[in-house]
Amino acid sequence: MIPFNQLKPLHDLLADEINAALLRAADSGWYILGPEVEAFEREFAAYHGVSHAVGVANGTDAIELALRAGGVGAGDEVITVAHTALATVAAIEATGAVPILADIDADIFTLCPDAARAAITPRTVAIVAVHLYGGTADLDALVELAQAHDLLLIEDCAQAHGALYKGRPVGTIGRLGAFSFYPTKNMGAYGDGGAVITDDDALADRLRKLRNYGQSSRYRHHSRGTNSRLDELQAAILRVKLAHLDGLNGRRRAIAALYDANLTGVRKPSARADCQHVYHLYVIRAAQRDQLMKDLQERGIGTLIHYPVPVHLQESHRDLGLGEGSLPQTERAAREILSLPLYIGLSDDDALRVCEVIGQLRGSF
Ligand SMILES: *Cc1c(COP(=O)(O)O)cnc(C)c1O
Repeated sequence: MIPFNQLKPLHDLLADEINAALLRAADSGWYILGPEVEAFEREFAAYHGVSHAVGVANGTDAIELALRAGGVGAGDEVITVAHTALATVAAIEATGAVPILADIDADIFTLCPDAARAAITPRTVAIVAVHLYGGTADLDALVELAQAHDLLLIEDCAQAHGALYKGRPVGTIGRLGAFSFYPTKNMGAYGDGGAVITDDDALADRLRKLRNYGQSSRYRHHSRGTNSRLDELQAAILRVKLAHLDGLNGRRRAIAALYDANLTGVRKPSARADCQHVYHLYVIRAAQRDQLMKDLQERGIGTLIHYPVPVHLQESHRDLGLGEGSLPQTERAAREILSLPLYIGLSDDDALRVCEVIGQLRGSF
């Protein structure tokens, strides 16, 4: 049996360092917004070469608070995709703004800049670009669009820690970059966590207040905020994970290269040539996807679909008024995609076995 994912092998690999970090944080007697969070924020900012990282409670809050720090709220429109984790859209809605869902590029599966341009209205204030599967959005085109229309560009980096766009780390190209440290992400905590990075001092200052009930100093509230803090235990773990991030992404890329080399004739979304993909997910396309998924399951290979129902077709989001057929590339992707096993601890032999079984099934999907 080859599962789709498992987290225990990575814990075992780093157990000495992780357990020492946990004990250090526990023994410190300080559990919220203390030395571990401060150190993690410093290290995460330095890794990206930006001036600020602000730890928050999760990736959804990271996007919401990045938008709110940038002044986005009720009455505004924010453009993003429907082919993403629902959290991207939920975060926009949490600000009071209306999400405007635009279609994806037919081959790369990230926000199509032409579709984004066509979605701009006088109410549009921001774009949330999602770096899906560990690859990057079309940032040059989106930066140009944002500049031309005076829009705030936020990068949703929840699936792309350490990915590079033309040599620059994702999260550093828009005004703000939002990260999730959900346990299954490329850089995962042992619970929920998130962060926002930016080079803008004023935005960072607003974020620090927003995550802590708008406090400017103890019991002095400068603005309306919320409780969205990264805790010391998670920060201590994330400091270990950050130190290993490039190495772990390298292993993910090596597994993806094995798949690339041994899945001949299998269709995939294209990877952007000028980006360093970090393979949060390895996704293939199949006309008979459901059949393939079932056949693989019967042969002991776990797979998942990211994501089977685009946001605009979810029961929860019918009121957006976008029916079937309104985002054709998004809907086509949702019908064809399948994510193969890819995790730290998946051996080369396992990956080759997956390729072999898919090879045997060729012709049936
Ligand atoms: C995981 C994810 C999020 C949300 O992160 P949480 O930490 O679960 O709130 C947002 N956007 C994308 C693209 C994600 O994959």
